[in-house]
Amino acid sequence: MPRPTYNDILPSASSALGLTFDKEVGRNMNLDVLDVSIFDGHSVLPANRISIRDGIITEIGSGPAVDPSEHTITATGKLITPGFVDAHVHTTFGGQESLACDLSEAQGLEASLEVIRDYVTATAASTATAAGTTDVNWVTGGGWSMADFPGGAPTAVILDELSPDRPVILLSADHHSAWVNTQAMDLAGIDASTPTPPGGVIEKDEAGAPTGCLHESAMDLVSAHVPTASDADIRAGLLAGQSSLHAFGVTAWMDAIVGDYSGHRSPFDTYVEAEDSGDLTAEVVGSLWWPRDVEDIDAQVAALLDQRRTHGGFRTTSVKFMLDGIVESRTAAMSAEYSCACGGFGTSYFTREHLHRAFAALDAAGFDIHCHAIGDAANRAALDAFESIGGSETTGDRERRHHIAHVQVVDPVDIPRFAQLGITANLQALWACHDHQLLDLNLPYLGSERSRWLYPFKSFADAGTHLAMGSDWPVSTPNPWEAIHVAVNRSHPDAGDPAPLLPEQAIDLITALRAYTSGSAHLLRSGANGTIRTGQIANLALASDNPFDLDPGSLAEVHNEMTIAGGRIVHDATTAERQS
Ligand SMILES: [Zn+2]
Ligand SMILES: [Zn+2]
Repeated sequence: MPRPTYNDILPSASSALGLTFDKEVGRNMNLDVLDVSIFDGHSVLPANRISIRDGIITEIGSGPAVDPSEHTITATGKLITPGFVDAHVHTTFGGQESLACDLSEAQGLEASLEVIRDYVTATAASTATAAGTTDVNWVTGGGWSMADFPGGAPTAVILDELSPDRPVILLSADHHSAWVNTQAMDLAGIDASTPTPPGGVIEKDEAGAPTGCLHESAMDLVSAHVPTASDADIRAGLLAGQSSLHAFGVTAWMDAIVGDYSGHRSPFDTYVEAEDSGDLTAEVVGSLWWPRDVEDIDAQVAALLDQRRTHGGFRTTSVKFMLDGIVESRTAAMSAEYSCACGGFGTSYFTREHLHRAFAALDAAGFDIHCHAIGDAANRAALDAFESIGGSETTGDRERRHHIAHVQVVDPVDIPRFAQLGITANLQALWACHDHQLLDLNLPYLGSERSRWLYPFKSFADAGTHLAMGSDWPVSTPNPWEAIHVAVNRSHPDAGDPAPLLPEQAIDLITALRAYTSGSAHLLRSGANGTIRTGQIANLALASDNPFDLDPGSLAEVHNEMTIAGGRIVHDATTAERQS
């Protein structure tokens, strides 16, 4: 019998278009996982064994296998789930950052400064790897937290002391701001006379001098001078990112920006090469980037069609629109002014008319549309544009997977529209707690009424909205169990204020698990991920505990012990328990 591939088990709509991907998966990977609780992507099964032969799930049953494998894991008290599907992540950016000056694990300003100091010292002798454009040895990286600085804005003075001789650019954890030193600003020609670029903010002091923090499009003023990453850098980033995600039990993801973006080169070619070489062990859908300055919509759609891949382990069936910025820098698009002295309505990157025309053209071309929307006006603009194209319903043989990621501030009147229009809410649940960023840089700007509209997960669920989940790593940790903890508790063990954020918006464990598995797999149009069924390529994650037996307040302590992706074991911390 021919072995299944990703194509064989994709929805039938895909198989008419000529298959190219038939790489064998997991041959010789035979395993019985015994005495384990099983969540199949929808519910907990009345079974306690999963048998895998040659990388394929061959049986879900109870008791010993009829024809036992020589490899077994006894997983008493643990839960096996489909591999997690991260519906919004920047894997190559995260991987590249983890290999650069990586502040994402540093807790607090002092720890961050220590990391920068060490990195500057360790890389002092290396030369920039750019394609001959400059000899300047930049310090690049990111992951700093706005909550560590007054007003969310760090200053060049701090970096000048740590790196007096080399230009520095460090992106914030959310990638919407850049912290630069004086040398970087000098190279970019930024001074008091530099006008504010459209869609950007240059932080300035009272005298009008730039202070070293750039938001949104203003980041490009400096990043344009940074040598772009080499092919080898991006490839190393993808492989490092993939290992990190596998370690957390993630076996499939939607890369939320595949295109040139803010100094990052598109990872498109890297994904294609990694799939061809067999190094891509996850199933990936790339969201092709829709630039902010598109004038000729038809030409842009044609360019994206040239990059469309509808088959195999790396597909590009989705297009990404970033409708607005973020609340922290008052660039999220609001229908009423921000509740601070600075006021303003935030930034809308696209006109209504542009969105309606672009969505119509992409929908007609068969693309799924993936929106970043934070502010209530951005969420409404996305919904209005989806409504103008008839929503995301199945029509004829065309199934749509349009969705809105982040859904941070949503006017209650718009909540029913998601389900009515068939639009999936793609939740970054980790953010729905009283962390410092929310306390210091969201609530004061939102004011009391809008602060009650934050992350309305339960209202979405009650309205019948299709839910997916993702991490937005490297913006925040890709650990699904921490996100699920917050979805269920509306608090996080490390949050600044342990009080739950709008506890009435908590969802239950099974709803959260469904969103992070089958819910996200729906957006990827995956038949191989998000569920556990016989005949599928094994994509599985084994948790350290059975979370259904735990106090909900302990969910964040659950950790991933083993990951099987594409029929192969790609992460294994269980060897001590393995009998073979
Ligand atoms: Zn985003
Ligand atoms: Zn993102």
